[in-house]
Amino acid sequence: MSRKPKLLPIHIYGDKVLRLKSEEVQKIDENLLQFAEDLIATMYQWDGVGLSAPQVGVSKRIIVIDPQIKDNPKKHSPMVMINPVIEESSGETETEEGCISIPDIYAKVVRPSNITVSYTDLQNERHRINLSGYAAVIVQHEYDHLEGILFIDHLSTIARLKIRNKLKELQKNTVDGINIRCEE
Ligand SMILES: [Zn+2]
Repeated sequence: MSRKPKLLPIHIYGDKVLRLKSEEVQKIDENLLQFAEDLIATMYQWDGVGLSAPQVGVSKRIIVIDPQIKDNPKKHSPMVMINPVIEESSGETETEEGCISIPDIYAKVVRPSNITVSYTDLQNERHRINLSGYAAVIVQHEYDHLEGILFIDHLSTIARLKIRNKLKELQKNTVDGINIRCEE
């Protein structure tokens, strides 16, 4: 039985869940399928090209991405990756990145341009694929979330100084280690 996807609250910079290393998913059951649907719906709600479970407060190794949405905003092609592992990476590319958990802050990040990633899909099948360009950048950004790493951690000291005040502003709303974005 399927139900309507739920929109999940977004955890914002300052929230401790964003700094945890997420746990492996042990089994793909009905709850996990529903959670994946909710995560996808929440990603689209915020016009994201990717979203990870920690960003909605769930410290588990699940990411969703849709690299094609930028070129084709009307067509949704979400991809769910459970327990992803970046096995190889090469090359270098610089992309302006943002993050649903770090609203209104954008900065250029240098990352490998090609990756080989393995992951489990919702049918419990393991895959190993090569990605390059934008899709590779998104997977690396979301994978970082599972390790407690944020895109701003990749910036130079000078680039970080420039956004320091904005970060402090975001962090201000943290109460007892929790900082959840309210609907605008
Ligand atoms: Zn992010």
